[in-house]
Amino acid sequence: MKTGLITSDTYQNHNTGNGHPEQIARISAILENFKKLNNKDIIWKKPSKVSNKLLEVTHSIDYIKFIQNSFPKKELYFLDGDTIISPGSKEATIDAVGSIISAIDGVQNKEFKNAFCAVRPPGHHAEKNKAMGFCIYNNVAVGAHYLLEKYKYKKIAIIDFDVHHGNGTQDIFYNNEKVLYISTHQYPYYPGTGAENEKGKYNNIFNIPLPAGTTSDEYLNAYEFVLKKIKKFKPEFILFSAGFDAHKDDPLAQLQLTSKDFYDLTKRTLAHTKQYCDGKVVSILEGGYDLKALQESTEMHVNALIEFN
Ligand SMILES: [Zn+2]
Repeated sequence: MKTGLITSDTYQNHNTGNGHPEQIARISAILENFKKLNNKDIIWKKPSKVSNKLLEVTHSIDYIKFIQNSFPKKELYFLDGDTIISPGSKEATIDAVGSIISAIDGVQNKEFKNAFCAVRPPGHHAEKNKAMGFCIYNNVAVGAHYLLEKYKYKKIAIIDFDVHHGNGTQDIFYNNEKVLYISTHQYPYYPGTGAENEKGKYNNIFNIPLPAGTTSDEYLNAYEFVLKKIKKFKPEFILFSAGFDAHKDDPLAQLQLTSKDFYDLTKRTLAHTKQYCDGKVVSILEGGYDLKALQESTEMHVNALIEFN
């Protein structure tokens, strides 16, 4: 079976202003590369439509209303110092959520074996009641809830290898024993959360803080703890919060990963979890701000998804 690539043109209408690192060119760079590669093992697919009901499992009704009333008619609106929306963000934010729904349905219906969502804005900093860190809706959290509610899974693992801690995802699942949230991230660093002693009510949160300057070898050694924790949990479905800002060329952080490391960590995860989830994996883009590194790293990550049998 093939690998799904879920995306939509609406990312182009989410304008964050000149000089913002979370820019339109990020997704354009990723998609140009995949178009050029023209890999026949990739199936391109559009996001699904998303109702408020689906969002309400993850975010409060008041928050959703607040966001829906915040999209400006023109120019830009600042949800916080660096989380900015424009008129076109309305469609882009909903398509970012809709991409993970489309990906999950595609895996469940066997349209493809696994999938990667190339969308923006990212989601893992968005909390139940709060936009922050370029994130508005928590895309991966909506996906995890969808798996629990629609497909009745009982054990979902979210692996977040973005260089920043996913405070939003941790917040949303802190008291949910059905979801294991694992994060590797630079620490101490933005957003400030992600210490080892933040474990969740059911020991379902697993944080691996890493110092600035962490090398590939050091990172991949630490990743062994991720694999051990996942094996113990035995997830039925895996979601990746796939940020590529731990790359050595990324301007926003100081970890030292190479593009190939994203291939290795993906491949290892799939090999170690096949017996539990039968390869059911959906990945969604979070951060990654160097365009060349983002192109290479997403290609590596998706190659590992494609090669997996
Ligand atoms: Zn990040």
